[in-house]
Amino acid sequence: MSDVKVLAQDVHKSFGDNHVLQGINLTIRKGEVSCLLGPSGSGKSTFLRCINHLETIDSGRIEVDGTLIGYREHGDKLYELQPSVAAQQRENIGMVFQRFNLFPHMTAFENITCAPIFVRGERKSEARESALALLEQVGLADKADAYPRELSGGQQQRIAIARALAMKPDLMLFDEPTSALDPELVGEVLEVMKSLAETGMTMIVVTHEMGFAREVADSVTFMDGGVVVEHGTPEEVLVHPQHGRTRAFLSKVL
Ligand code: ADP
Ligand code: MG
Repeated sequence: MSDVKVLAQDVHKSFGDNHVLQGINLTIRKGEVSCLLGPSGSGKSTFLRCINHLETIDSGRIEVDGTLIGYREHGDKLYELQPSVAAQQRENIGMVFQRFNLFPHMTAFENITCAPIFVRGERKSEARESALALLEQVGLADKADAYPRELSGGQQQRIAIARALAMKPDLMLFDEPTSALDPELVGEVLEVMKSLAETGMTMIVVTHEMGFAREVADSVTFMDGGVVVEHGTPEEVLVHPQHGRTRAFLSKVL
């Protein structure tokens, strides 16, 4: 059994004339927590969205657990999967965005149980039980009946994490999960992510939180200009970067 979780090979993606991903190569191992850094516009969000086929790729390949994402292969050509099949692949991949996009008309509890019941077809009793456990896990057992507007940004983001986990993903993608939060609320979200990392979840986290990267990440990936410039341990990339572009970026954010 291979321990590779995510494999990206020479992934290209353009929006019109804008060649955003210019040959991404990256391997993420099972249980690895990788922080993805890079200047604004370097393609970090686009790459995350390609991993769960929210965006189509123009060439190259992305595999999760050895399975091609979003496409089937025939000869040397790739054909896009039917939306329903792509959606099934996506169910195993949780995603948390910068803006806590909870459903505003549903309680925290309903936000968490909605997809397991209606998408995964879980029994209500089962979905409820796991929702309670997830609320406990993110430290919000007492907020089950609260509506998003009654929660702080940090609490909403913790519910968003619980909601993603309710689909029982084995890969979690975080796209700047704390960037929209007031500074005093960042820590509680990072704590939840840290405890998730300790469960062995494979995580790719776009973040500018260098403390988190140093303390929690197994690896740091630095992207610039649509390619992975450096990938290594936090020590290698953050303390002893090999590339001028990495050093220039770090000098601005550290
Ligand atoms: P990052 O997350 O690193 O800041 P993004 O992946 O969001 O970078 O964006 C990279 C580039 O792709 C930017 O120039 C952005 O304008 C462009 N882009 C992203 N999504 C779209 C889209 N859906 N349509 C057109 N251009 C897009
Ligand atoms: Mg982004």
